Amino acid sequence: MQEKGTISIHTENIFPIIKKFLYSDNEIFLRELVSNAVDASQKIKRLAALGEYKGELGDLTIDVSFDKDKKTITVSDKGIGMTAEEIKKYINQIAFSGASEFVEKFKDAKDANEIIGKFGLGFYSAFMVADTVEIHSLSREEGAEPAKWVCDGSTEFEISPSDKTERGTDVILHINSESEEFLDKWKLQEILDKYAKFLPVPIRFGTKSESVEDGVDDKGEKKWKSVEVDNIINTTNPIWTQAPSELTDEDYLKFYKELYPMSEDPLFWIHLNVDYPFNLTGVLYFPKVKNDFDLQRNKIKLFSRQVFITDEVKDIVPEFLMLLHGVIDSPDIPLNVSRSFLQADSNVKKINNYITKKVADKLGELFKKDRKVYEEKWKDIGLFVKYGMISEDKFYEKGKDFALLTNTNGEHFTLDEYREKVKPYQTGKDETLVYLYATDADKQDTFIQSANKKDYDVLLMDSPIDSHFIQHLEGKLEKASLKRVDADVVDKLIDKEGGYENLLTEEQSNKVKEIFEKAINNKTYSVEVQGSSPEELPVTVTMDEFMRRMKDMAKNGGGMGLYGSFPDNYKVGVNGNHPVVDKILKSEDAAEQERLAKQAFDLALLSQGLLTGKELTAFVKRSVELI
Ligand code: ADP
Repeated sequence: MQEKGTISIHTENIFPIIKKFLYSDNEIFLRELVSNAVDASQKIKRLAALGEYKGELGDLTIDVSFDKDKKTITVSDKGIGMTAEEIKKYINQIAFSGASEFVEKFKDAKDANEIIGKFGLGFYSAFMVADTVEIHSLSREEGAEPAKWVCDGSTEFEISPSDKTERGTDVILHINSESEEFLDKWKLQEILDKYAKFLPVPIRFGTKSESVEDGVDDKGEKKWKSVEVDNIINTTNPIWTQAPSELTDEDYLKFYKELYPMSEDPLFWIHLNVDYPFNLTGVLYFPKVKNDFDLQRNKIKLFSRQVFITDEVKDIVPEFLMLLHGVIDSPDIPLNVSRSFLQADSNVKKINNYITKKVADKLGELFKKDRKVYEEKWKDIGLFVKYGMISEDKFYEKGKDFALLTNTNGEHFTLDEYREKVKPYQTGKDETLVYLYATDADKQDTFIQSANKKDYDVLLMDSPIDSHFIQHLEGKLEKASLKRVDADVVDKLIDKEGGYENLLTEEQSNKVKEIFEKAINNKTYSVEVQGSSPEELPVTVTMDEFMRRMKDMAKNGGGMGLYGSFPDNYKVGVNGNHPVVDKILKSEDAAEQERLAKQAFDLALLSQGLLTGKELTAFVKRSVELI
């Protein structure tokens, strides 16, 4: 008996559309067919467990195979199977309200995922790569007749009896001429590796050779021979589906290596596991990072019930955690909708918050459990924590308890500890606490030494994220500001009661200023005569904190180019109390005064590595003369 019918959609040309529009993504046909096979296999298991299926379950391994000559790809399962009636019901009625809606929505669809899932077209994705598709199926029902369904991509189909004797379904694709690339072992293996590597039912893709022991030779040495064994391409119970209590560190590390064979061991990991108010499992790893943001992105793989979906998890994982590695599996993430919808989805928001919280809790726990180990890892973790604190307020609130500040001696402090440490020495007369930092310990060494001499502590803020972190901290910390250690002469860095007075008279100060201005002869530098300790350098060249940040912003492309033309503007602090200044004043010879002033100024530049080229040559020459 043979029956012909029409697939109930109301347009003749849906398959050509599917083929054409989805071409770039067409490899997902295999994901869809294998997922259906997995579903059918799990259903039969469940029915057996419930006592509703009384037959032998048997081996449920799914077979994927291809035939280059016949140009076919076949996916065979031993799942629940379908009767002819079921095929008509499930396969022929494409689940959407009408072709017009479909075509309407289609216009904006960006990728195949959007359409395939939304319209229940999983099975029909086969027509992206096949001219004709056959289904051979034997239902689990007792006495069921095997059925065969054939469709050539038009809306006509044909159902007839099949000679299939084993329970389950074979889907045979007759690959079209544009898709022959899929009739290739490596291509198929690659697609299966990508989408099916962690599916919960074993999937066999042909055979592979393996070496096995083959007795011993005359010298008593082991012999080996090569045998063909089933090529099972998946791990059916990946670690994220297992209970954390049953897993060892080795298991986590092994899985990491499986996902990212080339990577160094991760620092630590977090096992995610919630089932209310949404369902999510996964393992996130903190990788060892170099300060290289972009390179490491998109390393988190998103799964839905162990089927790989995408490694673009933007919007699901908080931005600052995009640098993490690992997997997330959630059937509750809408996979088939557009980006903007995803952002508005309440589950996605909850998932986002959950992950943020879990990561914060884990970090807090590590910090409490073993501070020493935590400090050792801080160089790597710091990037995430700082990034997180800057970008998410919720994370800042948690992070402020385990974020560390590191000083130029390599000591670590929490924010609270540090405040207590520097409070006695670094509070200005307006009660503001001044945190000092260096961005380059070598270049700013003179300033760091001067600050340390005054019992000031200096933080090391030398990673690219630090300049943002500084700004953010300043907004958060109460009555505190941050200044780079070379933002002013040490006595002026923190405005304190009872600093050094400039002992020169106003007239003398003006004279000194004049001499220096003449000697320097450059508008970039503005001279100020002030009082500092006679132990300090006679001259210090600094750039105001505010000015420097503006320039940095312009350099990093911020400020919309407004500051692009900011002139360099340095302050030349002349120490009125220094013996050299005294000597300059006392000299009667104007040329000698200028020479000494220039020499003192050049020394200041030299100490910061700012003296180069002709200026440096002139300085060396002058120094020799002075000797
Ligand atoms: P979805 O899987 O999203 O429901 P599909 O178009 O892929 O959409 O499949 C439609 C239906 O056809 C499935 O829900 C299932 O009932 C049935 N089906 C598809 N493939 C198989 C199979 N290999 N074995 C048994 N039933 C199947």
